[in-house]
Amino acid sequence: MTPPHLPVPQPGSAAPTGGGPAAFDAVPALDGELRFDTAALDAASTDFGGMVRLPPAAVLGAGSVEDVATMVRHCRERGLKVAPRGQGHSTNGQAQVPSGLVVDLGALDAVEIHDDTATVQAGALWSSVVRASLARGLTPPAFTDYLELSVGGTLSAGGLGGQIGHHGTQADTVRELQVVTGEGEIATCSPTVRPDLFRAALGGLGQCAIITRATLSLIPAPRSVRFYTLTFRSVAELTARQARLIGEGRFDYLIGQTRPTPDGWVYRVEAAAYDGTTDDDARLTDDLDALSVEAQDVPYFDFVNRLAAMVDAFTAMGEWSLPHPWYDALLPASTVNAVVTDTLADLKPQAIGASAVILLYPVLTTKCRTPLPVMPDEEVAYLFSILKTASPGADSADEMVAANRRQYDTTVEAGGCWYPIGSVPLTKDDWVRHFGGFWDEFEAARHRYDPDGVLTPGQRIF
Ligand SMILES: Cc1cc2nc3c(=O)[nH]c(=O)nc-3n(C[C@H](O)[C@H](O)[C@H](O)COP(=O)(O)OP(=O)(O)OC[C@H]3O[C@@H](n4cnc5c(N)ncnc54)[C@H](O)[C@@H]3O)c2cc1C
Repeated sequence: MTPPHLPVPQPGSAAPTGGGPAAFDAVPALDGELRFDTAALDAASTDFGGMVRLPPAAVLGAGSVEDVATMVRHCRERGLKVAPRGQGHSTNGQAQVPSGLVVDLGALDAVEIHDDTATVQAGALWSSVVRASLARGLTPPAFTDYLELSVGGTLSAGGLGGQIGHHGTQADTVRELQVVTGEGEIATCSPTVRPDLFRAALGGLGQCAIITRATLSLIPAPRSVRFYTLTFRSVAELTARQARLIGEGRFDYLIGQTRPTPDGWVYRVEAAAYDGTTDDDARLTDDLDALSVEAQDVPYFDFVNRLAAMVDAFTAMGEWSLPHPWYDALLPASTVNAVVTDTLADLKPQAIGASAVILLYPVLTTKCRTPLPVMPDEEVAYLFSILKTASPGADSADEMVAANRRQYDTTVEAGGCWYPIGSVPLTKDDWVRHFGGFWDEFEAARHRYDPDGVLTPGQRIF
């Protein structure tokens, strides 16, 4: 395995650029702080994936949007690269920049709640957004599983979760963005104001602009949730039920996963009815021919935050600080059963780590209206994620990354695409194919808004 202090070589990865503190002399006064100390550089040189380690030359603790713009302009003039960073929950160095500037957005975390929107700075965590909105009886419509991710970080990826059948991705819930472009311009964009910038920034992996503020839709919040766990006998049974349920919009929330047991894989749907009661149980579940059905009432916040308990458990096991070579892909309905069945047949559960989780979430692509993240070209698709941990006794992180690459090739052959948050070494050609029909527009936006290619080299796209 590559020692954790060395970068994993990546095809197409840019050579380190930039310089030491001297490159940051004559910086105008900032509201935040420019840091060169070891603690700041170390923290910004790694991520949740724990495999890529690329120290920047400096870290900006941004104190205002003007700080972000000032430093992007400064770096552009000096030929330095810039990487925005939210919570660093990337798994493959996506928020890192060797010898450049990491812009830590963590302190830009203000949240304002209005009648049916929230104005949120990019460094805010989704847990803060939902806490503030619930105090007004409102909620964001769409969540990721984990709430301790930054708004800017998930909007730059897209943000997929169990509400996607009703509300699309988190990017679909955005009404307006404030961004800093690669030229250091502070700009506002929306579906009607500079729509090209809006389309390229949402799900745009930080390639054209740094998101500094988002206006998010809010909806009335349920008080509680009737939460169902149903098990099924096979991949085909699971995906058939999910396709039907997401098409009907029967549940407010719908995900799935598969788990190994001594008797083989178990296929599980997790579904929720907002403000549901026991009276709803028969109507919602009787005709699904499930092997088992469990239901419980959960307060709404505990429901959207329920991954927190699992993260605490994995942290206590020591698993959370190990390398995480995650694989995340989207498969069309027409090929999902074959790909998942073959993958599981070849998979040894112990090889993917003690805390590995395998997700299979249905996606209604017609609800996903922003061009990014890229989706398969069918009405129903599935997020297939193999969330691996390089635990003792499991495959090494390098072996897992190599397996991810093979899985990626299988996915593409099957008409799927990757959800770009995981650990897969991609080439420029892979990226062009990934963006497909949107590539030309995306590349044009990159040249227009970041003409010198300053922003976010860790994605290794340009
Ligand atoms: C435990 C866990 C659970 C997760 N669950 C889900 C899930 O359910 N659904 C889902 O969709 N994803 C999920 N993810 C993935 C997650 O959404 C992405 O990795 C996300 O980018 C992480 O946010 P972050 O704040 O840590 O971003 P970072 O890792 O800091 O940054 C991610 C990328 O975005 C760029 N970036 C960061 N901030 C900005 C900004 N303001 N503007 C432009 N670019 C920016 C960075 O440079 C980097 O390239 C999960 C990740 C983890 C670790």
